[in-house]
Amino acid sequence: MQKLYADIIVDITQEKLDRTFQYIIPDRLREKLEVGMLVQVPFGKGSRTIKGYVIKLTDTAEFDLSRLKEIQEIVTDGLGPQSRLVRLAAWIREQYGSAMIQALKTVIPVKKKIKAREKKSIRLIMDREKAVSQLEFYRKKHQAARARLLEALLEDAELPYELAAGRLNITSAVIKALEEQQVIVCSSEKVYRNPLKGEMAEGQHISLNAEQQAAAEGIIRAWEAGDDRPSLIHGVTGSGKTEVYMELIAHVVENGQQAIMLIPEIALTYQTVMRFYRRFGERISVVNSRLSDGEKYDQFERARNGDIDVMIGPRSALFTPFQNLGAVIIDEEHERTYKSETTPRYDARETAIRRAEMEGARVVLGSATPSVESYYRALEGQYSLYQLKKRVREGELPDVCIADMREELKAGNRSIFSRRLLELTEDRLKNGEQVMLFLNRRGYSGFLSCRSCGHVLKCPHCEVSLSAHNNGKLVCHYCGYEEEIPHKCPSCGSAFLRGFKAGTQQIEELVRKQFPSARVLRMDLDTTKGKGGHDKILESFLNREADILIGTQMIVKGHDFPNVTLVGVLAADLSLHAGDYRCAERTFQLLTQAAGRAGRGERPGEVVIQTYDPSNYAVQAAASQDYEGFYWQEILFRSLAGYPPVSGMMAIHGTSEDQGQLELAMEYLKKLLDQIGKKNQLSIVGPADETVYKISDVYRKVLYVKHERREMLIMVKDRVEQYIEMNQGYKTINIQFELE
Ligand code: ADP
Ligand code: ZN
Ligand code: ZN
Repeated sequence: MQKLYADIIVDITQEKLDRTFQYIIPDRLREKLEVGMLVQVPFGKGSRTIKGYVIKLTDTAEFDLSRLKEIQEIVTDGLGPQSRLVRLAAWIREQYGSAMIQALKTVIPVKKKIKAREKKSIRLIMDREKAVSQLEFYRKKHQAARARLLEALLEDAELPYELAAGRLNITSAVIKALEEQQVIVCSSEKVYRNPLKGEMAEGQHISLNAEQQAAAEGIIRAWEAGDDRPSLIHGVTGSGKTEVYMELIAHVVENGQQAIMLIPEIALTYQTVMRFYRRFGERISVVNSRLSDGEKYDQFERARNGDIDVMIGPRSALFTPFQNLGAVIIDEEHERTYKSETTPRYDARETAIRRAEMEGARVVLGSATPSVESYYRALEGQYSLYQLKKRVREGELPDVCIADMREELKAGNRSIFSRRLLELTEDRLKNGEQVMLFLNRRGYSGFLSCRSCGHVLKCPHCEVSLSAHNNGKLVCHYCGYEEEIPHKCPSCGSAFLRGFKAGTQQIEELVRKQFPSARVLRMDLDTTKGKGGHDKILESFLNREADILIGTQMIVKGHDFPNVTLVGVLAADLSLHAGDYRCAERTFQLLTQAAGRAGRGERPGEVVIQTYDPSNYAVQAAASQDYEGFYWQEILFRSLAGYPPVSGMMAIHGTSEDQGQLELAMEYLKKLLDQIGKKNQLSIVGPADETVYKISDVYRKVLYVKHERREMLIMVKDRVEQYIEMNQGYKTINIQFELE
């Protein structure tokens, strides 16, 4: 086991040093040295020495032995949090493929100039009545940031400065302005009072209901019995999952350990953070993507120093350097944002499980619509499964109806509204209630469907829909298959084959024309560009400054609008035919969430799902809120077509500005894969153009490799990486691996 040489990466804060140096391990250190340790080594000419992390131990010298120097000393004894993260980075590198430096930068935020900051807090000093009218004033003047801050202060009269700046997205200029108007004061006491302590003492503590209790106790009992499998909590929206998470975290903290709570950025609202704050007080911290590297470093430093017990944040909060990590909890585990879109394309769920394994911590996943792969693992026994079937507040589930757009056409209705949705919208507007119209554009890829019979043109090899291209062809983005766009529906012969063109902007125009007196808001990437644009629109809708909110998937996440009694899904089909194998799953999740938006208040809600494919199982199951029903259909499809989680799959993404080189490079990779595959029964699909073939002059292609076993795919990745390293031709090509 004891190795002779160690690869060491020095000074990871310097971008240019993307290389490792090999050193001899002297006898006296051989027994002790582990990957991740910080060591002192001689560097360059003369007597200079520097520190570096051990990232690999090996028995083969890559250089002439006479040129290798010896490691001098181990700097940190034992593996501190930093060293464990370096080890985690080494694992990420190996799993997902990237340069070591990229993996290291992912797990360790780069240290910038850090100044010790005092703890500041913001306190409301204006009396309440006056403050309320001041809030009205800000709203009237459309001073959204000021209103946001004041509103939060009316709820909790004192706030930590960081919370205001980070979560509420308030600039220092706004805080200064409110200070000048004598609405607030900023105090910078070294240790500030926890404004909520009194409240907590008064027993605001929620006691769990039977289902919640069973889940929390079951998980804790399993932990104590030494069961180190991850747990999956499948709990319908509003079943009180967050309370269960907090119970588990409290248990971890009582044992003197720390916890990481991962929440997708879009669901990481001020209200959510405050719930944790009320329970755990100042021992929590929050990171989000709006923090600068330095600010994030500060928060991580607090964790390292033991100043906090709980870190809340999106994906990257997983790398909080706690001394004694007890649990990682991942809410909304089905969200795609847990997978990094940049190299290394790590999956935060898998990485959390790996980190927990390394550090003796536990992992809990939770969702109302668990990802197919997690549910699969739970049923296979790799995860333990807990179900929360009831809503805490026994509210009525909304009435869902499916509008068959083919029938509408037959009845002569060519508008984007079904008759049912039109009628219900008019009714709601008359009653002064609010309506959400959801355009399901996620992953829309330009598929073609028959408006008479609903038939969608699919790839004969991959069971995914074909995308129409400008050159008059239909293309498969998995295998590259092409065919001419037909003039007639191959199923019924109708000539009414169409794509979907409507965007949110066009929908807005149509809605305004149809309901000229209604106040309409639109939320999409265009209207939310500015800082806080997203919150502003939601806030304005919540304040009933509009009757109809039109939007993309952005509007269906986690927000409560008690006055919304109707949700219309304009084109459920768009995401059903996104041209990838997960589109049914995504459609089910989106439709379930969209349906969950209706009837959050006193009045029950209604949902209209418009589709050309009303018998599709994802649409049907979402309409009846039947997760199990959906799952069994979906897993059947996945196993028949050989997709994850039943089979392992790896995407190899290639990008280059040189189109010809890219085409060639991908063809050669395919040949290489064919060769590897002869022995190992790989199935290789592609190369094909990516859904978007060209982005800012960079061409993009993809190859897929499938095999039952994931380890085989990792072996293939290593072979491909070696091949690329040895071939000059790949200098202008960027290759990324994505393991499913
Ligand atoms: P989920 O995360 O499953 O959507 P939440 O934890 O957000 O559900 O709970 C939904 C609402 O119900 C929250 O307002 C929460 O405070 C409340 N709640 C949760 N559990 C209880 C309970 N045992 N008793 C009373 N209210 C509860
Ligand atoms: Zn295909
Ligand atoms: Zn047809």
